[in-house]
Amino acid sequence: MDKFYTLGIDIGSTASKCVILDHGKDIISKVVFHVGAGTTGPDKAIEKVLKDVGLSMDDMKNVLATGYGRNSIETVHNQMSELSCHAKGAYFLFPNVKSVIDIGGQDAKVLRVGPNGMIQNFVMNDKCAAGTGRFLDVMANVLEIDINEMGEYHMLSKDRASISSTCTVFAESEVISQLAKKTKKEDIIAGIHFSVAKRVAGLSNRVGLEDVVVMTGGVAKNKGVVNALEEATGKKLYVDKDLCQFNGALGAALFAYERAEK
Ligand code: ADP
Repeated sequence: MDKFYTLGIDIGSTASKCVILDHGKDIISKVVFHVGAGTTGPDKAIEKVLKDVGLSMDDMKNVLATGYGRNSIETVHNQMSELSCHAKGAYFLFPNVKSVIDIGGQDAKVLRVGPNGMIQNFVMNDKCAAGTGRFLDVMANVLEIDINEMGEYHMLSKDRASISSTCTVFAESEVISQLAKKTKKEDIIAGIHFSVAKRVAGLSNRVGLEDVVVMTGGVAKNKGVVNALEEATGKKLYVDKDLCQFNGALGAALFAYERAEK
């Protein structure tokens, strides 16, 4: 059977993600660059995702961009909102999905997904860093640990610290004073994760969560946040650890496939 490639590009505020699909089914290449809109990240991600499998833009039947920086790419055929793409991607990964919690670099969104993978309703926080990846990035920096170690630390915690400020700047001061009091890093981190979880659980109450609940976005790679969110929402969260951050790009590649087929 002939190959039928489509490319989905998700230009976020923090990271640039690309996915190439064959026949709208098989992921043959995926790339993330940890820099987003307004940087060289998008161009580098596009170049690498093609180069890794020896393809060029001309081999793509359709290219669709999504995310905060989707208007900045000239070589795309179509654009679509990241809300629709996240619903589509989550539906591909978990066909029984009803709700999606997506936490990215600078926003958090909760979506209700219809039986056909189309978005029905959503709420979004993009006005404030609290409850987003940015909050966690700031805290990891103060704690002098890598963002991808946060989940492991969390799992060691036996006595979660209380981080009461929702404001990122004030919460950062709280973390600094906890460090000065010699509170264990794992307990501070569990407190930070619970603070994010409470904030996002509050957001999700506004649309209501219905099983199956899927978590996506780069922050879903942090099992500490996933655990804390399960506690705060009382729901089991389904996460595809390898693809959670690619969910928007995957949805974009799926929409590109539908467009190309037409
Ligand atoms: P956006 O689409 O808004 O650019 P992403 O969904 O790509 O955001 O998520 C970016 C965020 O994911 C970062 O701010 C960071 O907090 C988090 N993140 C990325 N990689 C990891 C990792 N390996 N472990 C934990 N968190 C991560």
